[in-house]
Amino acid sequence: MPRIGTFGDVDGRRGESVGTIFDGEHGKDLANSALKIMERHGIAPSPENYFVFASHASGQIPELSRELNEMMLSGDGITSKNCQELYAKHCTQGALAETLTTNSSDVENQLGDAIDALKAAGRDTREYGETLEGASGQLEKTSDPDVLRRMVASLVDATQKMQAHTNQLEAKLQETTREVQNLRVNLEQVREEAMTDALTGVANRKRFDEFIQRTVQNENGGQTALIIADIDHFKSFNDNWGHQTGDQIIRFVAAVLSKHAPEGALVARYGGEEFAIVLPGVSLDEANTTAEQIRVSVERKVLMRKSTNEQLGTVTISLGIASHREAESAFEFIERADNALYVSKSNGRNQTTIDGGDIAAAERAA
Ligand code: GH3
Ligand code: MG
Ligand code: MG
Repeated sequence: MPRIGTFGDVDGRRGESVGTIFDGEHGKDLANSALKIMERHGIAPSPENYFVFASHASGQIPELSRELNEMMLSGDGITSKNCQELYAKHCTQGALAETLTTNSSDVENQLGDAIDALKAAGRDTREYGETLEGASGQLEKTSDPDVLRRMVASLVDATQKMQAHTNQLEAKLQETTREVQNLRVNLEQVREEAMTDALTGVANRKRFDEFIQRTVQNENGGQTALIIADIDHFKSFNDNWGHQTGDQIIRFVAAVLSKHAPEGALVARYGGEEFAIVLPGVSLDEANTTAEQIRVSVERKVLMRKSTNEQLGTVTISLGIASHREAESAFEFIERADNALYVSKSNGRNQTTIDGGDIAAAERAA
């Protein structure tokens, strides 16, 4: 853990690195006040919880500070569980990097050992070769059974040594292979985490960007549809029910999208309360059907506040759809779907709009 600090504004020192604000006497006071505030909110002083409050104080993670402030001001208050979520959402990049570094240096050591073993084996092989050559030279010159017996004995000895080294080398190489495989699995997990939205478990913006780029580049005359969805009047929902209940709604909408997305489609959290589905090989009509299923499914669900079982009523979403045009950039494609979403919003929300240009093109083709 880095030396970390406090909660609240720190004599205008907000924005300094988490490492430096905790140095010296000043830092000690700050640490104490952070702990006091955690105590007042009933937050256990675990390293993760502490990290969250300290990161907040340092001002290094504005999104974390905003969420923490909203939680502390909301009626729901703040719990250790929220802290854990904030930690997972905002503070784990460093931990992930640490995992990577540790794993990499393990493998580096393993590889170093294996290389040493290989070098030793090379030396042994050379010596073994020399022994054999020497023996074959002598063989041509002698027919003395004693000399022959000694030669055979020394060959057996050299062969056994060689065998032992080969076994050692093999064991070493196996160990190294295992380590490298472990590293590959760890890297895959880290990659997966780095591409996943922590709140909802769907793809994050980074994966969305990569996926849509790749999809439109490899389209090869096929088609790709894009749905963008945004929760209606979400700000007032947050204001009424608090940020955590808002988060619950975001998770709910993500789950509905995932449920209705066809196989091969990518569901992503595109922004705060905005989602996207990339649908490779899907026509405008099919995308429209999926979008409407999603919209109706969201609108029909009477939502409950998990913590208190209160009825929250319903939420609605607005959607926009576009179909990719040949040679169109991912940026323009997204912009058209986004504009269609905007039309849904300005026509009263809780509806799906297909990009006007796409409709005209479909009519021309019909
Ligand atoms: P509209 O129908 O026009 O979309 O209205 P809106 O209020 O949903 O739109 P706006 O984009 O103005 O507000 C989005 C709100 O979403 C603002 C922000 O507080 C909230 N928000 C963004 N990210 C999160 C999040 O991760 N959790 C929660 N609970 N709220 C979020
Ligand atoms: Mg909205
Ligand atoms: Mg929005």
